[in-house]
Amino acid sequence: MTEQLAPMPEDWQRALAVVAHPDDLEYGAAAAIAAWTDAGKEVAYLLATRGEAGIDGISPAEAAPLREREQIASAAVVGVTTVEFLDHRDGVIEYGPALRRDIAAAIRRHRPELVVTLNHRDTFGDTFWNTPDHKAVGRATLDAAADAGNRWIFPELVEQGLQPWDGVRWVAVAASPRPTHAVDATAGYERAVRSLLEHRAYIEGLTDEDPETYARSFLDEMLSANAASFGGRPAVTFEVFPR
Ligand SMILES: [Zn+2]
Repeated sequence: MTEQLAPMPEDWQRALAVVAHPDDLEYGAAAAIAAWTDAGKEVAYLLATRGEAGIDGISPAEAAPLREREQIASAAVVGVTTVEFLDHRDGVIEYGPALRRDIAAAIRRHRPELVVTLNHRDTFGDTFWNTPDHKAVGRATLDAAADAGNRWIFPELVEQGLQPWDGVRWVAVAASPRPTHAVDATAGYERAVRSLLEHRAYIEGLTDEDPETYARSFLDEMLSANAASFGGRPAVTFEVFPR
């Protein structure tokens, strides 16, 4: 018998999603975010970079504002109107205190109960090597959930008026190879497709396939992959770290 995924906790009001690049949340997690905003929850996005190194045929100087616009539009599709960018450098984000401090500052500003990030582990699935940026931001986000609550770790944040926030109850890691929880993707599916399609310049740089065909086939496969562990329903999965 397949081990079942638990439903995600629902007794929270504010979430902050922290990822490395524009499009990271649109490869699946957006279907869960749509369900959350439908339920009246507030979700904000924090992007470590503007994804400026993500399109082979477009220089970083041109790609940064383009991808920023695409990210803001894709967030709006799933009911997210707060999208912030940290301006770390795409492709070479460094894990360390500077990144932890930037994320901890955002956690103190937004005071979320749930923090969402993208896979911090070495691989997607068993065999696809993850990128350094995803690993750095995922790990720093897991760490920053605790840093945000300790006034002595980044005292300069208190001097800037950012009081400690020790209210993060869970960090949920999307697309982890070790999922523990899931959200039913049925209600959010169409908006997840449209939110991914807002990254049109990125998708057109990635594939010659029709963008909508590409988006639907990717999301269909991703969201059905764990259905057998979630009562047969399409599932956005998370590895949840309680705090
Ligand atoms: Zn990414």
